[in-house]
Amino acid sequence: MKKKKIWFSLLAGLFALFLVACGSSKTSKETKDVTSTTEEVVSGASEREYTDPSEMKDSYDVIVIGSGGAGMSAALSAKEAGADVVILEKMPVIGGNTSKSSGGMNASETKFQKEQGIDDTNDLFYEETLKGGKGTNDPELLRYLVDNSSEAIDWLDSIGITLSDVSFSGGFSKARIHRPADGSAVGGYLVDGLYKNLMEKKVPIFVNSNVTKITEKDGAVTGVKVKVDGKEKTIKAKSVVIAAGGFGANMDMITEYKPELKNYVTTNQKGATGDGIDMAKELGAATVDMDKIQIHPTVYQEKSFLVSEAIRGEGAILVNAEGKRFYNEMETRDNVSAAINALPERYAYVIFDQELRSHSKSIDTYEEMGMTVKADTIEALAKEIGVPEANLKATVDSWNKYVEAKNDTEFGRATGMDRNMTKAPFYAIKIAPGIHHTMGGLKINTKTEVLKEDGTAIPGLYAAGEVTGGVHGSNRIGGNAVADIIIFGRQAGTQSALYSK
Ligand code: ADP
Repeated sequence: MKKKKIWFSLLAGLFALFLVACGSSKTSKETKDVTSTTEEVVSGASEREYTDPSEMKDSYDVIVIGSGGAGMSAALSAKEAGADVVILEKMPVIGGNTSKSSGGMNASETKFQKEQGIDDTNDLFYEETLKGGKGTNDPELLRYLVDNSSEAIDWLDSIGITLSDVSFSGGFSKARIHRPADGSAVGGYLVDGLYKNLMEKKVPIFVNSNVTKITEKDGAVTGVKVKVDGKEKTIKAKSVVIAAGGFGANMDMITEYKPELKNYVTTNQKGATGDGIDMAKELGAATVDMDKIQIHPTVYQEKSFLVSEAIRGEGAILVNAEGKRFYNEMETRDNVSAAINALPERYAYVIFDQELRSHSKSIDTYEEMGMTVKADTIEALAKEIGVPEANLKATVDSWNKYVEAKNDTEFGRATGMDRNMTKAPFYAIKIAPGIHHTMGGLKINTKTEVLKEDGTAIPGLYAAGEVTGGVHGSNRIGGNAVADIIIFGRQAGTQSALYSK
């Protein structure tokens, strides 16, 4: 790790000595600290151990490529189904883009919604996602997602990952996004919880293990080639799950499919390079929606760091360089991004007050990273960020009136209006859109089998998560990626284990 704190290193060292003394099996280690890097944001400091490369076998029932939410859910489910399963991760740390997810998981008809009197249905979840995706989502995949969402929330709860706080996502009329009760970012919380379960079930996780090829014989998958710490090894498997994530950090691929995104920053971790798509294409896999690349409206450009949509959901507004609101902040991501890009300055500010600040743990990270500007009055804040003071004051005054009347007469915003903006100090974060999620990818069916152009499945090959395409259509609703990785990750684990028998 780059800027490991000294005391933490000492603790890690002592812990290592303790393990050696106990005769523990060999492991490689990762020490995580929330303040250490902009790449990995976790819900708290944690110590992780990975399996030593010398323990890598020549053969497994199921190989999972990638250790994000999809890969970890797949490996857990394959193990639950009785398979000898392994995770291969090319980066030195696990978690992928999942670690960076700050929102939550959409699900309908859940026990947590029912407890909170939220009257939601799978059909409405389906319809609103389809509307957000402009009617281009794969209907069967989407149906599978919504119909299995409540059960997935229960499964997570049963393994100690409790997403009981339910709130709003842009584009939805019902509170449907499920988050950790303590307000922490969902990604770190999920990765910590899934990792803990994998360790308990003794599923080996190898990091620095870059899968370079999926091998086959007569069209059926036989295993992978992997570079472990630079050395190539061939491993046999009865089935392979590709959970290698999207291509949001591969600018060549991004510009191949969407040249207009050439100068955009990306919120993605470095390992999101689309390897899974390339390797499956070599076996004849079909892809869908490759040009559907989501830009997120609120990215702090200097650090390519996302300001969660939940901040707007909690009551923040967006203002332009004139200090004026310019759009319904709770519209879908594509529309809010387009509105920012239509401003002559092509950036905006997220504005909120201390009341909101004290309700959101994610803002701790934004402050630690130096993303926030803070002042005691709205006028002083305006001065700090260089927008006309009178304009910003008038904007906030009008906003408070709309909140009180529950009626935004200017832009028709209807959600995220539960608290006004009156408690000092006041905050601003300068943002602009950035590449966030690649919605296209490998074509799969509801069994997560990877399909060829002719619609037939490649025997033994499964895929789940951001590496696949079709679920989100033209625009992904916030909270649907976590639903995607958990629900289809589980299915990929179960199906690949079944196939391996
Ligand atoms: P998802 O959200 O679909 O689970 P993530 O981005 O969270 O996707 O995780 C995908 C993981 O796969 C990342 O940790 C990434 O580094 C890893 N990965 C990508 N390509 C390879 C590869 N060739 N070999 C091993 N791991 C890979």
